[in-house]
Amino acid sequence: MNKTLLMDLIEKVRKFREEVDTFISSNKNKTSRQRVKEILGKDPLRSYQSIADQIGISRERVRQIAMALGFPKRNTRIVIKKCLGCGIDFLPRNNGVKYHSSSCFQHVRHLKSMVVLTCEECDIKFLRRACVVRWAETKGYKHVRCSRTCQGKFIGKNHGSRTNLSKSRGKQYITS
Ligand SMILES: [Zn+2]
Ligand SMILES: [Zn+2]
Repeated sequence: MNKTLLMDLIEKVRKFREEVDTFISSNKNKTSRQRVKEILGKDPLRSYQSIADQIGISRERVRQIAMALGFPKRNTRIVIKKCLGCGIDFLPRNNGVKYHSSSCFQHVRHLKSMVVLTCEECDIKFLRRACVVRWAETKGYKHVRCSRTCQGKFIGKNHGSRTNLSKSRGKQYITS
């Protein structure tokens, strides 16, 4: 047989083998990918290690495939937090979460927007929106009453009638 023809044939066989190898490995990757997708699709919390054991690839490879498929990053440790609103222990979705529910968050945000005042008339402590108090301060109102009733008592004592009450409406019971 011609020597160059033989070399040519050997080269062709080598190339064919390479092609077969690439085909097999790419097909294998494809099936791993599909299987990871299938498993995580059914059970997103399934551990990468158990998937790796099942498919017969490395845990790192499972992680890479999961990332490529857009599955959320795994937290390596689980941190239990105390809700800043109600104080119960809960499992936060991510590190930034401080409240166990949106109603706890809204409750705290509402409280933060309030200030504690003491009524000059009945001496009880009560909450009033901070923006109202700031507004009253800019208007120069210095006295604090918890309610229209207490304001009425004050006006009654100082002016002997309740006729001024209507004029002070809108002052949110803080009269000068
Ligand atoms: Zn809470
Ligand atoms: Zn009062």
